[in-house]
Amino acid sequence: MTHNQDTAKSAQLFTRAQACIPGGVNSPVRAFRGVGGNPVFFKSGNGAWLTDADGNRYIDYVGAWGPLILGHSHARVRAALHNQLDLGTAFGAPTELEVQLAERICQLMPSVESVRLVNSGTEATMSAIRLARGYTGREKIVKFEGCYHGHVDSMLVKAGSGALTLGAPDSLGIPAATAQQTFVVPYNDADALALLFATSGKEIAAVIIEPVAGNMNCVPPLPGYLKQVREITEKYGSLLIFDEVMTGFRVALGGAQQLYNIKPDLTTLGKVIGGGLPVGAFGGKKAIMDMLSPIGPVYQAGTLSGNPLAVTAGMVVLDEISKPGFFDALTQTTATLLQGLQSLADQYAIEFTTTQVGGMFGCYFNKSPAISTFAQVMQSDVERFKRYFHLMLDQGIYLAPSAFEAGFVSSAHGANEIKLTLEAAEKCFATLKQ
Ligand SMILES: *Cc1c(COP(=O)(O)O)cnc(C)c1O
Repeated sequence: MTHNQDTAKSAQLFTRAQACIPGGVNSPVRAFRGVGGNPVFFKSGNGAWLTDADGNRYIDYVGAWGPLILGHSHARVRAALHNQLDLGTAFGAPTELEVQLAERICQLMPSVESVRLVNSGTEATMSAIRLARGYTGREKIVKFEGCYHGHVDSMLVKAGSGALTLGAPDSLGIPAATAQQTFVVPYNDADALALLFATSGKEIAAVIIEPVAGNMNCVPPLPGYLKQVREITEKYGSLLIFDEVMTGFRVALGGAQQLYNIKPDLTTLGKVIGGGLPVGAFGGKKAIMDMLSPIGPVYQAGTLSGNPLAVTAGMVVLDEISKPGFFDALTQTTATLLQGLQSLADQYAIEFTTTQVGGMFGCYFNKSPAISTFAQVMQSDVERFKRYFHLMLDQGIYLAPSAFEAGFVSSAHGANEIKLTLEAAEKCFATLKQ
């Protein structure tokens, strides 16, 4: 493993990038603002490994922020893409490929009776929210503090300061009137949701939730919580949208809804179903989905939606993860990594805790032994995380550059990668302790 790499090329590229791309990046968290320093520019990936522009190698726990459940440059995905390249990359007309992917999604997620393909997770949540409003004839949406649903205007909202939980814009450029259509309530707090519904339930079109919160690090739902959310929404005739853009085909073959045995009305998907190409999807009950254009009055469209290349990659991924034992192995690899990290932290008496659901995990420099709320997440020692991040990076371990992002393990991570990661972590914890 390389140590204290030379990253001169990355630094040069970042200088060039900053001259022509805002902040030098095409998505903000890539910029390393959460950890300090310059982002690493990559030129290739293979299995669990990344190679940067300077030729340094890293074990990757970001996996392109979730999609790469089979690791980088998987042989079957590559072969299928090569084949499709020769047949054409876009037709702007229906193909058998998109039907196959839709059939497969419906088969793996029984709550999804009908599904529309889009190009990103953001597009999926934006469309699902519009559909929920169109279907119910109501305008208010409920989201949870710390959950992320893409950069949709009505979702870039934080809890307002008043007694009510009506949202305030969390970005410039979002009209206050839009933010006020969104209620923000705490995650893993069914009483808070019930209270909101008691006063405003009849105005609420939908509740959108990450069934495992993966954008405030990784916070699993408390036992029974999702069932309560389902019951409350049902009682008031509001739709329940599971945003499984991250958890879908990641925490279990049938997503979080299978793991926790909850049937949402609508589900949004992305990340894994694109196999590293841009795909999103939203689907659910046929009676709701049939409200969409061209057969219904809710408009939704996309020039490249159902793109043959993207759909081809997605099909191969769903095929591979459907093989018996896939999720058991992924879950076991992830558990081995986390147990190793925890025992090292304990050995060095560092306040540290982890969470895991399938192939998705969280690591916290935090006093709380069990993390279940946004407030607890916010009490994490961010300064310590920053040091940990850079110490790991210097030893060739690429973690998400923020204390508030989930980590991902792929099926390409084997015993050797875990061993190397734990060896690096041991040095980190020893240094952190000093
Ligand atoms: C990543 C993510 C999104 C947004 O998807 P993009 O493809 O980045 O637009 C939405 N919801 C959740 C839960 C996500 O993790």
